[in-house]
Formats: sequence, C-alpha cells, structure tokens
Amino acid sequence: ILATMVDSSGSNQKKFDDISGLEKVKEALLELVVWPLEHPEMFTGIKSPSKGLLLFGPPGTGKTLIAKCVAGESQSTFFCISASTITSKWIGDGEKMVKALFEVARTRLPAVIFIDEVDSLLTQRSSEEHESSRRMKTEFLTQFDGMTTESEESLLVIGATNRPQEIDEAARRRFTKRLYIPLPEKEARIEMIIKNLGDHQRKLSVTELDVIGERTDGYSGADITGLCQDAANYGNRELLMARSRDKIRVKIRPDEVRPINFSDFEK
Ligand code: ATP
Repeated sequence: ILATMVDSSGSNQKKFDDISGLEKVKEALLELVVWPLEHPEMFTGIKSPSKGLLLFGPPGTGKTLIAKCVAGESQSTFFCISASTITSKWIGDGEKMVKALFEVARTRLPAVIFIDEVDSLLTQRSSEEHESSRRMKTEFLTQFDGMTTESEESLLVIGATNRPQEIDEAARRRFTKRLYIPLPEKEARIEMIIKNLGDHQRKLSVTELDVIGERTDGYSGADITGLCQDAANYGNRELLMARSRDKIRVKIRPDEVRPINFSDFEK
C-alpha cells in the first residue's frame, strides 16, 4: 500500500519552471525548504528549517504541482497521500499507515511527504470524532514532533488545504511556514494557456491571447487546463458531430418520425 504513496510519475523531473506565475512563492520556497533539504548541514541550530509547510488557497491553484516541484528541485523522494483516502480506505489502520509512511520516508531521504486535503486528516476535535481518527491524528503529531527534534534530517511535510480554518489548532502550529497560493494573475494565465495549447497556440494572435487572458480573470490553473482541453477538442467535436448527424440521418428516415402523442402515455 505504501508503494502507491511513492510517486513514480516522474515528479523528480518537475521544476519551478513548470509553475506559471507565483514568483514570490517560488522564491520563498527556495529559501525556506529547497535549500535546507539540499544542504541540511548548513541549516542547524538557530538556522534549523521549518519541517512543516502548509499551502492553502482556492482549489486548482497548483498546490500539488508546487509540492512536486519542491521534491524535484531538491532531488527528494516524493510521497503523496490524500488524507481522505487514508481516512476512508484504511479506517482503523490509519494510525499504522501514518507510522509506516514516516518510517519508509526516513529510509528514502531526502524526502517530501505531501498530504493533500490535510484538513480532513487533522480536523478539529469534536464529540463525534471517531476513536480511530483521533489516534491517527495523535500518531501524526507524534511523528511530526519526532522530526523537529532531529533537525538535520532532510524530511519535510507539506500539507495542502482549501479550508485551513478546519485544521486542528495544535496541528496547525506544527506547520510553522504557511503560504497562501492565490488564483493566477493575467500574465500567468496567458503563460498557462500557451503551455497547455502547445501547437494549437499558433492559431491565436497576440491580441486574441491577451483577450482570453483578460476574460479568464477568476479562473484557477485547473480551470485553464480544462478550458484549453475543450478548445483543442472543439475541432474534433465539430467534425464528429457532423458525422454522427449523418449516421442518425441514415438510421431514421423523416417519415418514420411522428410527433409524440401524449394520449399514448395516458392509456
Ligand atoms: P486541489 O486544491 O483541487 O487539490 P491543487 O491546488 O493541488 O488543487 P493542482 O492539482 O496542483 O492544484 O493543479 C491542477 C492543475 O492545474 C494541474 O494540471 C496543474 O498542473 C495546473 N496548474 C495549476 N496552477 C498552475 C500554475 N500556477 N502553473 C502551472 N500549472 C498550474
């Protein structure tokens, strides 16, 4: 099961250049986490780096991509888990999974453990909270505290959430660095459109790109990816729609089509 958490989709090839915009975020990440992962011996004592980084902001703004890039830039092994998977799939075993995850990560240093939807793993205490999820949360905090004492260990936990306010206060304190990941600016949106469209992009003039960049205000990176996929498929769609219309015409002759008679249904 743990093997599925080790990302083998080439995340080590992901670099900051793959992220459009977010220049300040990239700069901060380089100093806060990438350099310490690469050169742990230079970041000891008072210079000890943060072991927990929280990325928060609207959905689809590239939090997962950023975590992959941190791993890629620092040549770290990337462990990726979705908190909702742990909580739903391994109910009762979540505590063991968390422990095993940290143990395996420690054998593959430098390593980045990325927890998507971290709010559902580290929810605020409530009376309805299941005993097993409380134990899992405690195990996570124990593992986290173990990391902070071994400061030269190149292990980083990155949590991502759209709902930071729902994270348990004690857990939130462990994420000593917190970065807000906003929706992309116009320049970044245009860059994403160009990258996403690939060769298709040549069909657009500079002015058209500018207009699309303007009109996609409020779109996330994920929205832009979806928009470009739809646009690229538009030609196929037109062609295939025309072909299906032909097929339909062959199958159904107009004289076979008669208006619906509602009285048929009443019988
Ligand atoms: P969620 O909150 O829904 O988990 P997320 O913030 O983790 O989303 P990603 O999954 O990283 O977002 O991004 C969604 C898609 O949008 C991916 O294909 C990603 O490559 C692309 N994307 C988002 N933001 C950017 C960006 N700034 N630069 C390049 N690609 C981006």
